[in-house]
Amino acid sequence: MVNHRYLGNSGLKISEITYGNWLTHGSQVENDAAKACVRAALDVGITSFDTADVYANTAAETVLGEALAGVRRESTEIFTKVYWPTGPGGPNDCGLSRKHIMESIDGSLRRLRTDYVDLYQAHRYDTETPLAETMQAFADIVRQGKALYIGVSEWTADQIRAGHALSKELGFQLISSQPQYSMLWRVIEPEVVPTSRELGMSQIVWSPVAQGVLTGKYVPGQPLPAGSRATDEKGGANMIKRFMNDDVLARVQGLRPIAAELDLSLAQLAVAWVLQNDNVAAALIGASRPEQVVENAKASGVTIPAELLARIDEVLGDA
Ligand code: NDP
Repeated sequence: MVNHRYLGNSGLKISEITYGNWLTHGSQVENDAAKACVRAALDVGITSFDTADVYANTAAETVLGEALAGVRRESTEIFTKVYWPTGPGGPNDCGLSRKHIMESIDGSLRRLRTDYVDLYQAHRYDTETPLAETMQAFADIVRQGKALYIGVSEWTADQIRAGHALSKELGFQLISSQPQYSMLWRVIEPEVVPTSRELGMSQIVWSPVAQGVLTGKYVPGQPLPAGSRATDEKGGANMIKRFMNDDVLARVQGLRPIAAELDLSLAQLAVAWVLQNDNVAAALIGASRPEQVVENAKASGVTIPAELLARIDEVLGDA
């Protein structure tokens, strides 16, 4: 079963493998398959679920709400996000103004069929709205009981520090940062991780298998696997292309002997790798089918020895 970790210095435990539904629910994946993935997640002990209002233009929240209907609310942690427009494009449909936040949380709660989310996250930083206005809106949402904890996503270390200071003044505390992090994307290591550690915040990291690239299923010179994200014309193909070059794909194949030494699949090695960082509270995995959830969840509790971590760095180089 999947282990749990504390989110920052709070008392909230989240499953260190969290299931997210970007690009899949309401888009690439039919609703039955989406629900089967959520069921598989629950069966392996995943209790935390991440979505956003903007995923599939609100449909992802709706599908997740349906999939979790009837599941004991106290046994799950539901995370969603606000920032991007989901409406027809009114002047206040984007960003972190008080108006957009207050309207968005109510839509998310309705679609998710819940009275509160465990974690409400600023999907991006808003350079146009005063940070104090944004943090006051979050403070009020916490006070109203619509969100229990507040986090951010893809904020720089300086933005996190400023938001955290304001949150403390307002009687709550920013608790998490949600950045991209994988063996192929290590941007957060020099600044975001040390700052978060100092402030008592955790990372919930997205795309730990680099959208499928670190599973090793994309092999240079071979056709793309049918039904994979790289072939998904609804959006996935565009998102994954940053990793789809022969040099990166060949280096990933070079990780196979390391995974074999640990008796892991490449996907499990990649998920376990992000969990070696003690500032990471959860690896946020996606899946288009239940078998992927079951496979990747087995990365929970795996220790990768330092010698193998060094060999991973050698194989990947500056990929
Ligand atoms: P992953 O890196 O886990 O990629 C998931 C995809 O990789 C799956 O949908 C599947 O795609 C493929 N895959 C996963 N496991 C396997 C396996 N064992 N074998 C073969 N293929 C596999 O993460 P995502 O990019 O999906 O992101 C995860 C979550 O992170 C999102 O759902 C969302 O919650 C969050 N996120 C947050 C962002 C933010 O800005 N805050 C941005 C992006 C994501 P397929 O089968 O189609 O090839």
